[in-house]
Amino acid sequence: MDVCLVLTHRCNLACGYCYAGEHHGRQMEDTVLDRAVDLLFSDGAEVAQLSFFGGEPFLRFAAMTRAVERARRRADERGAELLLQCTTNGTLLDGERVRFAVAHGMRVTLSIDGVREAHDLHRPRAGGASSFDACHRGLHVLLDGGARTDAGMVISPQTVPFVSRSVSWLWSEGIEVVRTSLVLDATWELQDRNELREQLWAVAAEMVARRRSGEAAELEALADRRPTRASRPRPQVVVATDGDLYPCAPMVGEDRAAGPEAGLRIGHLSDGPERIAESVASRGAGCARGVACACAAYLETASRTDPGPIGVWYGHLCARIRAAIADQLREVAAPRGGRRRPFLIGLAAAVGGAAIAGSALLRAGLGDDPPRAAIPPRPARLEPPPEAADDRSAEAERERKPEELERLREERRRRRPDRVRIQGRLHDPLVGAEDPLDDLD
Ligand code: SF4
Repeated sequence: MDVCLVLTHRCNLACGYCYAGEHHGRQMEDTVLDRAVDLLFSDGAEVAQLSFFGGEPFLRFAAMTRAVERARRRADERGAELLLQCTTNGTLLDGERVRFAVAHGMRVTLSIDGVREAHDLHRPRAGGASSFDACHRGLHVLLDGGARTDAGMVISPQTVPFVSRSVSWLWSEGIEVVRTSLVLDATWELQDRNELREQLWAVAAEMVARRRSGEAAELEALADRRPTRASRPRPQVVVATDGDLYPCAPMVGEDRAAGPEAGLRIGHLSDGPERIAESVASRGAGCARGVACACAAYLETASRTDPGPIGVWYGHLCARIRAAIADQLREVAAPRGGRRRPFLIGLAAAVGGAAIAGSALLRAGLGDDPPRAAIPPRPARLEPPPEAADDRSAEAERERKPEELERLREERRRRRPDRVRIQGRLHDPLVGAEDPLDDLD
């Protein structure tokens, strides 16, 4: 089974939407770490992934090294394949850490919210200063060192206006794959959703243009990938610092026995590999590109089995755009992976300018790429979206019965004091936001 380790709750940033909650000082001891790593192939898996989460995992670089070396020994003993992944804010990366990642083939997901204006809205340092320059430097330490790097971008209603520019910028910096997630417990007004839809269509048009010009640019939510041996869904368990087990990293929260996360635990390391494997099989999270993702459901509705309207809407929207892109890209090979040098600025600007105009063509289902010379420059600002709310979203919302909505609201109210306390401490601009479900009646 795949194992994700929460090495520490400490972090040098104070992101407003951080679901790790308060950055208390608990960290994983070696005895817990060793037992957690030994779960990796205990169920007979031929392929398993060890990943690191936090807090900021590179604050525990020695522990990470120990875990990777132990996991490598276990894989070699069984002739199994070990995959490694780490999610980091990038601010602590240096040559030694990147050489380590490269030597072990570790895929590094850099959390960065895009261009400076977007990134600075939610991801300050713990002291309140901007983390953008340190994060940007980390991005280039990774790319220049040859590490397998992708970007994880969180989208909030406040960062929506920057989405297409941010994705374009990350591609131009040399990132091939950009992953996205939404701040699901924010208030997503109709105009935010409409604007996000327009931004994603613009991203889609640029993705098509770049892929046709031979680039491997990809927004993961819009990419139609064939499953590979490594990407096939596998059972996964997340091990918190004291050995408590969770189905999914966002559910760990503060990992407090008295917190809402305690009800999501699926066991403890002391249960032993067999019982843990059973528990993971019967109570694991399950992910399906956002539409039926249990952790996304939990983050929006406080229930892992009740997907929220925003998550469902986003899943359907991405599926629709993904299908349009796939139609246009049938003849273009999937990204090959590996290092790509930053894109030439002039070419990037031309392709970026194609995005808005190209999105209209993409939506109209036209098969031909517009000739580059005819592509108009990117407008200074986006035109107001021509359509009303996304139909499918409206349908999904109508399907929710009033009692069900009331129950979801009640669950969120119960959680609210915790999050407000956490986010208030972190100076979150979302504090005091209305309940996101209120506008969905
Ligand atoms: S979301 Fe931000 S504050 Fe939370 S662990 Fe990641 S980098 Fe740290």
